[in-house]
Amino acid sequence: MLPYGRQDIDEADIEAVVAALRSDWLTTGPEVARFEKAISEVAGGASATTVTSGTAALHTAYAAADLAPGDEVVTTPMTFVATQSTACAFGAKMVFADIDPFTGNLDPEAAAAAVTDKTRVIATVDYAGHPVKAPEFQKLAAESGALFLEDAAHSIGSTLNGVPVGQLADLTTFSFFPTKNLTTAEGGAVVTPRADLEKRARNFKGLGMIRDPKEMRAEDEGGWFYEVQEFGLNYRLPDVLCALGTSQIARLGAAKARRQEIHDRYNAAFKGNENLTLPGVEQGAEPMWHLYPLRVEAARRRAIFDELRNRGIGVQVNYIPSYWHPVFHDMGYKRGMCPNAEEFYAQEISLPLFATLADDQVDFVIENVLEIVGS
Ligand SMILES: *Cc1c(COP(=O)(O)O)cnc(C)c1O
Repeated sequence: MLPYGRQDIDEADIEAVVAALRSDWLTTGPEVARFEKAISEVAGGASATTVTSGTAALHTAYAAADLAPGDEVVTTPMTFVATQSTACAFGAKMVFADIDPFTGNLDPEAAAAAVTDKTRVIATVDYAGHPVKAPEFQKLAAESGALFLEDAAHSIGSTLNGVPVGQLADLTTFSFFPTKNLTTAEGGAVVTPRADLEKRARNFKGLGMIRDPKEMRAEDEGGWFYEVQEFGLNYRLPDVLCALGTSQIARLGAAKARRQEIHDRYNAAFKGNENLTLPGVEQGAEPMWHLYPLRVEAARRRAIFDELRNRGIGVQVNYIPSYWHPVFHDMGYKRGMCPNAEEFYAQEISLPLFATLADDQVDFVIENVLEIVGS
């Protein structure tokens, strides 16, 4: 089965991991700082704190935002549930706002209508790799005293008006799961241009242990001494995996170019087909495409999906609207809240897209889609 996404591991990656295994540091060593520097460079200079997954990155970002019970998070249903579950872990209330079906991203106007004086975070997702309308969310967050969080699990390497993802929001989170744009097997990062948020993020991912005597409340007792002033967790990404990340991130530009070529090839083949809706691109956006989200007639989506899978094409659906999950239903969230997201979901099929996908494989997907859908 041709997968919808997969990793690209080369000999340099393997050598980098082996070198880390042979070194003195399996974790908390120099490879962590090296990878964080490389992420920061891709993210336009904002600081990067590595963690063990994209989910851990979201959890850490909400901790940095000091999210507390009673706070509200205005967010998109068109995402993986981790965007919300990690905020719910702090007792926050999710307020879902609808998407713009052109890109699948949270609609700034819908988000603005959902903001209240309890809104602490506006949590967006760069769906498929396409950056959200960051200037509008930044303005909305500033006006409402909230923080703007960009779940960029899909979009490391993307830019908006020339500004890299990582510099667009107060807090940006990356995932390095194998299907994403670069991988450390499991891994993630929190990126922020704000020193205060970086400090809170680092503290949370390191069990809350404070070792700087200047920041201690009690007298420093000696070289062994540390204090915990707020609880954190152990979300440290090991050197072995950071070494893989540094090797991977060096090829991010080439991966972006190849993903764009594949996207263009799909677009060229499907353009003008009245049975299909293609992914939209806004002016100023230069996405690093993580997904190719094709939309078909909702009534035929299941049959088309099943037939593509029968033919060895590992399509996927991204995403089931978050609040459809029973965990939200049990809290009183009802279907029908965000009609654009529900319609988008009902039509969506993600086609295979990854850097090592060959042109003849792309053509195989195209032929089968057109044969099944009709042109
Ligand atoms: C993958 C993903 C996550 C979670 O990342 P993991 O590394 O799998 O924990 C969060 N949000 C979105 C939008 C994702 O696609």
